[in-house]
Amino acid sequence: MTKKGDRVVLIGSGAVGASYAFALLNRGLVKELVIIDKNTDKAKGDALDLNHGLPFVSPITIWDGDYSDCKDADIVVITAGASQGPGETRLDLLGKNSKIFRGIVEDVMTSGFNGIFLIATNPVDALTYATWKFSGLPAERVIGSGTILDTARLRFLLGQRLNVDTRNVHAYIIGEHGDTELPVWSHANIGGLRIPEYLATHQDITIEPAEFDQIFANVRDAAYQIIKLKGATYYGIALGLAKLTKSILRDERSILTVSARPQGEYDLEDIYIGLPAVVGRSGIKEILYIDLNEEEKKQLHHSASVLRKANQSIML
Ligand code: NAD
Repeated sequence: MTKKGDRVVLIGSGAVGASYAFALLNRGLVKELVIIDKNTDKAKGDALDLNHGLPFVSPITIWDGDYSDCKDADIVVITAGASQGPGETRLDLLGKNSKIFRGIVEDVMTSGFNGIFLIATNPVDALTYATWKFSGLPAERVIGSGTILDTARLRFLLGQRLNVDTRNVHAYIIGEHGDTELPVWSHANIGGLRIPEYLATHQDITIEPAEFDQIFANVRDAAYQIIKLKGATYYGIALGLAKLTKSILRDERSILTVSARPQGEYDLEDIYIGLPAVVGRSGIKEILYIDLNEEEKKQLHHSASVLRKANQSIML
């Protein structure tokens, strides 16, 4: 079929994938959405269901497709694979999901795809690295969702506790999207005011230093809590993926904590890890350098060492 405009191919129409498809539709972000899932009934059912909403949104063509549709895709988004069960860590999924990825990435590349990969399946940093290796595409065109969700969770919790719009909270979670991630407290600010300055001018808010540690623990462990409550997390990441898609297709140059491949930044290389980066039409345009304090640097390097081990186990 002749291409009508920006095309996204979604691979994996489970809880995360279907929520992302719905978010794309609501925002009128693309002209073509192709859904692929190994469960072909699920892909067909989702395409039909979403098509029935077309009278209420901007024009878009949606179909359940196959890998040949990737040839003309601007972005291929992968949310396929196993998800965490109760008590399971993200890294526990590596064995199963890296095998799935080898097949998927090979099929996408065989189509002649030459766009941008966006990866959300866990463990996301290791699978983004694997996608880069398997695809042979330039590193800036292989992007993982990294710690975008963790950063969003931190901004939400801080905004709630400090009684301010979460969009005016500027604070990052970086490192592995997983148990070794870390908050960058040294540069966290509310509308330009460092947190201590903000608190000094808002004496109605009393907050003990230990409460910040608890806020971070709640961010880090949020997935475990949600999985215990309802089996999976999907709306938050789906909106994050939609934002990433918009930033790419509209060349917004948004700064997002994606899984990116540093080339010496933060003394890191040959790894994908969550770092603030400028995202636009050509993919990752730049990794932003933040002057971390010594403790933050140590924690980031610890996180990187855990990811390096995971990467080695995939490539064996
Ligand atoms: P799900 O089980 O609901 O959906 C997975 C889908 O992948 C299923 O529809 C399945 O049929 C499909 N699939 C499996 N193997 C496939 C293959 N080879 N080809 C095509 N389709 C295939 O799972 P979910 O809740 O949607 O989670 C998906 C992934 O996203 C998990 O790895 C989960 O951990 C991850 N996740 C990531 C984040 C993040 O912040 N990056 C957040 C939430 C979930």
